[in-house]
Amino acid sequence: MKQLDLLSYTAPRPPPEPPAVRAEAPPPTLSGRLWLDAGRPKPPGAGGPGVCYVCGWEAPATLPRRKALSDVFTAHDQCAATGSDRVCAGCAWTMGGRSSATLHTWRLYCVLWREDGAVPDRIHPAAPDGGTRAWCANRSDLRPLLRCLLAPPPCAWSASFAVSGQAQCVPFAPLVPAGGRPRVLVERSVLDVAEAPVLLPHVAALRAAGVDADTITSGRLDAGACMRLGAAARRHLDALRTHRGDPLVYLLAWALKRDHAEEFTDDR
Ligand SMILES: [Zn+2]
Repeated sequence: MKQLDLLSYTAPRPPPEPPAVRAEAPPPTLSGRLWLDAGRPKPPGAGGPGVCYVCGWEAPATLPRRKALSDVFTAHDQCAATGSDRVCAGCAWTMGGRSSATLHTWRLYCVLWREDGAVPDRIHPAAPDGGTRAWCANRSDLRPLLRCLLAPPPCAWSASFAVSGQAQCVPFAPLVPAGGRPRVLVERSVLDVAEAPVLLPHVAALRAAGVDADTITSGRLDAGACMRLGAAARRHLDALRTHRGDPLVYLLAWALKRDHAEEFTDDR
């Protein structure tokens, strides 16, 4: 067999590759995804690319910070890129800054966004149109959000809970990648919700028994209520004993109406 002469050998050249088409990376933030789904609405004054002061996205369309943020915006400590003087069109659009032609009211709603679009059909009638992958609701029925905490979606997703209706939540909601550790935004804090499947059945049993959110969170049930509710309720309170004051317990109890609690208990 003829030996290959390594010294004089030159490998055949691979055929030239076609010029790479650089696909635009999807926005890594909820406000960017909502903005994209809504057809990239352009707030007045929007210009070229930049890094967003609020969410940190290297966005294709941005506005000057002084135009995008209203005078009452106070969440500077939550902002991702405080060295930048630009705000992405997504954040400007979802926050409805003073230069926006149409005022949106995202801050009033709890929002669920799923990349696979598996969200309930009915969006709250007064909520802004967030496209086919977003679902907005007020506290009257947050079961779709709670179901996501019980079984996080197999795709990218994001959830924010507006408690007061005053704080801007959407721009700060973490976007959880597929298989990522589940986290949500509650008012102004990001909360790890990995323990929600363990805690929710206990919270639900107590809500079904008529215990309010503050009592569930504090674990302080008076003696009369203890007797009235019986051993089952006390068992659930005992199960939550090591979670007294836990913001996740408060979130679950706050988000779950008594009328819907049975659906999430283990007592059925
Ligand atoms: Zn942004």
